[in-house]
Amino acid sequence: MSTIFSRIVDGEIPARVVYEDETTVAFLDANPMSPGHTLVIPKSEFERLNDVPDDVASDLYASIHRLVPVVEDAVDADASTVAFNNGEAAGQEVPHVHCHIIPRFDGDGGGPIHMVAG
Ligand code: ADP
Repeated sequence: MSTIFSRIVDGEIPARVVYEDETTVAFLDANPMSPGHTLVIPKSEFERLNDVPDDVASDLYASIHRLVPVVEDAVDADASTVAFNNGEAAGQEVPHVHCHIIPRFDGDGGGPIHMVAG
């Protein structure tokens, strides 16, 4: 069964896509923890980072690395929390690897784990 994120990759459900290349795609989180909250995913479906092959991991990191400054600039953030909830016990709800880029602002008050776990 496809994850909701695979359905976004396949164009079956809408998303606000901000970046796409051959192996990865990034789109705005539907329930943003701060303005500009972006998710970066491999197009192929892997449940956890532990399941991602080296070449895909490399492409995924390259996209994250490229997007962090772009996302921060887009919303004039002071910093960002960049994180994976890797597995259910860590708060991962969608079983398709995704990296949260959460713009942070001076004085926004949330610690990194609190921000990602919700
Ligand atoms: P958590 O919800 O605890 O952060 P995850 O780390 O699995 O768990 O994050 C899933 C993220 O996916 C959430 O931030 C949620 O808002 C987001 N999300 C779920 N469905 C969609 C969707 N259709 N489009 C965009 N973002 C989505």
